[in-house]
Amino acid sequence: MSKYKVFKFGGASAASVERIQNLPGILRSYNGDNILVVISAMGKTTNALEKVVDAFYTGHREEALRLFQQVKDSHLTTAKYLLVNNYLAAEVQLKDFFTEVEWLLHDKPVRDYDYYYDQVVCVGELLSTSIISAYLAESGLDNQWIDVRDIFRTDDNFRDAAIDWPFTADRVRQEVLPLFKDTRLVVTQGFIGSTSENESTTLGREGSDYTAAVFANMLDAESQTIWKDVEGVMNADPKQFPDAQFISELNYDEVIEMAYYGAQVIHPKTIKPLQNKGIPLYVKCFLDPALPGTVINNHTAKGLPPIIVLKQKQVLVHLHSKDFSFVGEKGTAGLYQLFSELRIKPNLMQSGAVSLQVCLDDRTDKIEKLALAAAGMFDVQVEKDLTLLTIRHYNEAIVKKLMEGKTAVLQQQTPETVQVLMR
Ligand code: ASP
Ligand code: MG
Repeated sequence: MSKYKVFKFGGASAASVERIQNLPGILRSYNGDNILVVISAMGKTTNALEKVVDAFYTGHREEALRLFQQVKDSHLTTAKYLLVNNYLAAEVQLKDFFTEVEWLLHDKPVRDYDYYYDQVVCVGELLSTSIISAYLAESGLDNQWIDVRDIFRTDDNFRDAAIDWPFTADRVRQEVLPLFKDTRLVVTQGFIGSTSENESTTLGREGSDYTAAVFANMLDAESQTIWKDVEGVMNADPKQFPDAQFISELNYDEVIEMAYYGAQVIHPKTIKPLQNKGIPLYVKCFLDPALPGTVINNHTAKGLPPIIVLKQKQVLVHLHSKDFSFVGEKGTAGLYQLFSELRIKPNLMQSGAVSLQVCLDDRTDKIEKLALAAAGMFDVQVEKDLTLLTIRHYNEAIVKKLMEGKTAVLQQQTPETVQVLMR
């Protein structure tokens, strides 16, 4: 039986002509393997497309078209640099995607913001993969490009769509597996999918890691590799902590906890599809593929350094029972109900007799709705601009060092993990 590998290249690995020119070399060193390659939008394209949607939705059509023109130009320029023989064919494909977006931008918004977001933002990965697929072919790496929206069926919860697992698994078997009879490389998009009505959807920011993991699960892949611009997984974000340490091996549990607490390593949904089938996940550096990288698997990891996660822009919502009645199950249940309705994920929560404290990401719209809805039962106070520090495998010295000059507003700890919300 053939075996498959799944590779995911993020925006950073496709951020420039030079970086894209690295890809053939990496893929050639896996000559002989069947590889499904999932690619993100180039560099900061997703952010740029978000601005297009914002302008469109707030009624600034000309501005939206102007911003979109920049996205078009930068992709056409990249394609021109990379492609010779395949340029014209690629240009036709790119222009079809441009047209789809421009049609939509010429209408007036009548549906939800999130719907338009997905119709516009999904084009980032369609453009990047079209260019890269053509470039790989031109570099002698025969490959098959597919539109993942024909494979990944989702619900219509735009911007955070859930995958219809049985339908998608069936499409992978029927449509993707047979492609490997004729090619060793299949190139497709991460992060996007489609509803049964053929509307585009997205799976949440940074969702390409997750797409790759779903493919790995459904293909029974022997491994998944995420190619990044860092050596592998570090014990802290090297941009915040220049002396961050590299970790060579981690288990699924550790990574899922890290991601849950806000480490930007890997999309939190990535681990489950891999863990469920015992598929190892490699995190490797596309700038130096010879480095071993980090492997994430089900072995027990020992001797891990303290793992540090800092989340900025946190908000603390104090809820104090109005008439001094206990918060109890009723208050707590009501609050969780609100979280689920507003799709709020609290980062930290603490309850007392007549009060509850909740730490959240600063999403002003959601916090206002929460405060309004809770105002019947509670006096509500909101404090902004806080930082949430989480340390796994902590020791007293490191907690003290990282809290220097700060005041703790809320603190929770287990033998494994300490979390401090700081002012
Ligand atoms: N392009 C999307 C983003 O920037 C998805 C991804 O890169 O994983 O969020
Ligand atoms: Mg990305």
